[in-house]
Amino acid sequence: MLRELVVLGTASAVPTRRRNHNGYLLRWDGEGFLFDPGEGTQRQMLHAGVSAHDITWICVTHFHGDHCLGVPGVVQRIARDRVGHQVQAAYPAAGQTYWERLRHASAFADTSVIKTRPVSGEVAHLPAGPVTLTARPLSHPVASYGYRVDEPAGRRMLPAELARRGVTGPMVGELQRNGTVTAPDGSTVHLADCSVPRPGQSAAFVMDTRLCDGVYALAEGVDLLVIESTFLSAEAALATEYGHLTAAQAGKAAAECGVRRLVLAHFSERYSADDEPRFLDEAGEAFGGEIVLARDLMRVPVPKRQS
Ligand SMILES: [Zn+2]
Ligand SMILES: [Zn+2]
Repeated sequence: MLRELVVLGTASAVPTRRRNHNGYLLRWDGEGFLFDPGEGTQRQMLHAGVSAHDITWICVTHFHGDHCLGVPGVVQRIARDRVGHQVQAAYPAAGQTYWERLRHASAFADTSVIKTRPVSGEVAHLPAGPVTLTARPLSHPVASYGYRVDEPAGRRMLPAELARRGVTGPMVGELQRNGTVTAPDGSTVHLADCSVPRPGQSAAFVMDTRLCDGVYALAEGVDLLVIESTFLSAEAALATEYGHLTAAQAGKAAAECGVRRLVLAHFSERYSADDEPRFLDEAGEAFGGEIVLARDLMRVPVPKRQS
């Protein structure tokens, strides 16, 4: 089971020498959610060791260029590499015109694997293999949606309880499928006797937005939150004006939502490397958990399940 974030790019509107435009691949049990492919995403994928075949979803938060100008390269690479599985594309329905331009930006030998899943309204739930992908609106000058991936709740088997009742081998699978199984002594064993509830894992991806209800709904209780922190607190007024978050606001939201691992991303080019510790400091004022300042080509695992 591979559950990790591959960071492809972390700049906001303008790339820098050290930060490519946005791009993030969340790998989750065989699914690959490519969030916000900005310019240069195809080459960043090469550097990060991920291929077009790893992508099963393209999720665009909004149609500002730093979040979508990599779509033409990625869709053409999917066609060129003959990706055979379906690739679903989620994006704000209000930006349909932009999607169509990006999808068909230049001449290439197209294939038919990309299926569109435009999102609208207050919430959209999309089945995505072993998880559910949920989209919710954010607050930005153009239509913007954040995303969240949720594994369904399951049950954790208790080996000692299974052994005590003589449930072994294929009987365990039968118990999990049917809820009961007949033990060697003829008694009926129930799933609840040999297991405990296991909450599903989750991750959220929140890009360009002010603090709003959508941020909190997306981030609630997630194991991994990837969130924009374009500005530091000194630029809080600018952040609000342009529809962005400060690192302090990102930390505050993460703390209120009980996030486990916080990944800060999407930084303004106005800040130098010397400023970077301040993002951690400001987010850490409210949030006591682990904070990762995203760097290009970094891999961030989804934290191990709390048992
Ligand atoms: Zn942006
Ligand atoms: Zn934007």
